[in-house]
Amino acid sequence: MRIVVLSDVHGNLAALEAVLSAVGSVDAIWHLGDAVGYGPQPQAVVDRLRGAGAIWVRGNHDDAGGGSKSIELFNPDGYLAMQWTRAHIDEPTRKYLAELPELTKPEGMSVTLAHGSPSNPIWEYMNSAAVASRNVPYFDTQFCLVGHTHVAMAFRATRGVMQMVPVTSRTRLRFGDKRAILNPGSVGQPRDGDARASYMVIDTDSGYVSWHRAEYDIEATQTAMAEAGLPHSLARRLSVGR
Ligand code: ZN
Repeated sequence: MRIVVLSDVHGNLAALEAVLSAVGSVDAIWHLGDAVGYGPQPQAVVDRLRGAGAIWVRGNHDDAGGGSKSIELFNPDGYLAMQWTRAHIDEPTRKYLAELPELTKPEGMSVTLAHGSPSNPIWEYMNSAAVASRNVPYFDTQFCLVGHTHVAMAFRATRGVMQMVPVTSRTRLRFGDKRAILNPGSVGQPRDGDARASYMVIDTDSGYVSWHRAEYDIEATQTAMAEAGLPHSLARRLSVGR
């Protein structure tokens, strides 16, 4: 099986389409949350992922888009963008986002999907080996896949302690029977200094997990954001991937 792992598309349809076209034919699409928020095409992104049969967990922006009070925890730009997002998704989509699971385990695989972390699925940032190690008891599968930080990353367990493994746009790793926490990076708003859309591919036949980047039309998304009246800072950061 060939599985593409996406996260944090954030209403950026051009980035999502670029990834889906670069990755070609896959057996499954897993999405680690935050399809909406920040970007100009929340409805179209949700429709595209649902239409493609993506398996999905709820991120903090999906949660707020679904109507949760967690919108109060957003920073000022995120708050404005979320208010805009709420006004630009339909009722079935709102309901769908609100009802997404916090954690899910795709059938027949030793994998747990979460947005932030298995212990605090909606909000925790898995951004250090210490946080990763503390989360080991909270999942019972070999792998836990997380997003939320918008930074591609891997942690591999040695005697129950997680160690960070550096990841670039060309990294391919095999984990054998070692437990690991993996982050595909963000499709729609990368924050690791590379503006290209980030994603991960799992090949269950070869055992390899690989990280990739796809070029997309950043200006088209920025123009759509300006036309929608979304905060300039959110559009600007797409050019630098920060
Ligand atoms: Zn996000």
